[in-house]
Amino acid sequence: MKHLFFGGIHPKYNKEMSTGICKYTEIIPAQVVVPLQQHIGAPCKPLVNVGDTVLRGQKIGDGEGLCVPVHASVSGVVTAIEKRPHPSGQMVLSIVIENDYKDTTVPMKERLADQMSHDEILGAIREAGIVGMGGAAFPGNVKALSAMKNVDTLIANACECEPYITADDTLLRTTPDHVLRGMKILHQVLQPKRVVLAVEDNKQAAIEMVKKHLPDFPEIELQVLPTRYPQGAEKQLIQALTGREVPPGKLPVSVNCAVFNVSTYAAIYKAVCLGMPLTQRFVTVSGEAIECPQNFVVRIGTPFEQLIKEAGGLNDLTERVISGGPMMGIAQSDLSVPVLKATNSILCLLKDKNGAAENPVCIRCGKCVDACPMKLQPLYLYRYQKAGNLKELERLNVMDCIECGSCAFTCPGKLPLVEKFRIAKKEIREAGKK
Ligand code: SF4
Ligand code: SF4
Repeated sequence: MKHLFFGGIHPKYNKEMSTGICKYTEIIPAQVVVPLQQHIGAPCKPLVNVGDTVLRGQKIGDGEGLCVPVHASVSGVVTAIEKRPHPSGQMVLSIVIENDYKDTTVPMKERLADQMSHDEILGAIREAGIVGMGGAAFPGNVKALSAMKNVDTLIANACECEPYITADDTLLRTTPDHVLRGMKILHQVLQPKRVVLAVEDNKQAAIEMVKKHLPDFPEIELQVLPTRYPQGAEKQLIQALTGREVPPGKLPVSVNCAVFNVSTYAAIYKAVCLGMPLTQRFVTVSGEAIECPQNFVVRIGTPFEQLIKEAGGLNDLTERVISGGPMMGIAQSDLSVPVLKATNSILCLLKDKNGAAENPVCIRCGKCVDACPMKLQPLYLYRYQKAGNLKELERLNVMDCIECGSCAFTCPGKLPLVEKFRIAKKEIREAGKK
């Protein structure tokens, strides 16, 4: 049974822009910059030195605690280990590798998942450096471990609800079996009662491809959901599929659900059954400001500027380049930043006619309240952030804001709502540390 989640919006999706010309193009960069921080948790420490020769798939950074390794995405020579610009806007210690174009890989061992123990599977997921590839970048082995014996519903998220992005769509249109095999592996480990692949109804070609392979995976159920933003947010997707509401401040496991992105499942299959670390992914390059929007298969560490060039370059009227989608992505000021494990899109936009107003005024219309999928009251959050009232902001659950931008999208006063909520959350976290 399908349910509706509260709130949400219907922006113009513009997905057809990047799915028109071809399925995808593979990019082999001359140099990759592999940041040692690509996941939530502790950064990796380098395992190589400048001058070392490395193979594709070789572990070049690792650490302890909440940490997964990073790997060389090309074979070649390490030419620098230094701080480089990162899509987060910070300078992050990174390993620079000059490609020798031989693509010599580390030996990879094929295995049958059903002959592996749960610990062996979780170990393979960690060693392959797998993180949530839908944007969250949480270490995959830790998330799977926390879900063991605690979930009755395992979900594959193929909603990709942000406008323009079609990377997961391309994955499903080209290799849906990789996703389904990855789901089967986590089904084996987590043993839920229900395993669901959820996709929105604006991806008909992907749905048809999945349906062709489904008879080989009788344990997996396909759910086609009506398109609505932000359906791909974990809590909203759980509500849409199960009717369960994740309480404020809690994780999906609190309602016995686990959600992984479809690209993550494909990476899990490759790691466990083929012994392949995470060294490449699909990335959409799209937007009105790029000449030839399309999808690429990209080595982790490829600079944004190379992908933009391969897509025909930027239009003279470009105003913004964003890592991610238009609703939740991060604007980039330096296009030398590299593709990360969780980079699904590079979006190139013209001047935003709907941007924040110079003198924004709240007319108390309430549209933001109706649009908020987390049942928050954005107009009051905005007012209390401006007044610096952290106590009220906490009482009104600002920490539950998923920064989806639905409120700002509907706001006739063009208030910079999400920007203020990001600041409020940061202020509360900093006050908590003190
Ligand atoms: S939508 Fe904008 S103008 Fe309307 S109540 Fe919310 S913040 Fe105020
Ligand atoms: S950005 Fe936050 S406050 Fe605005 S609609 Fe999304 S969850 Fe609600």
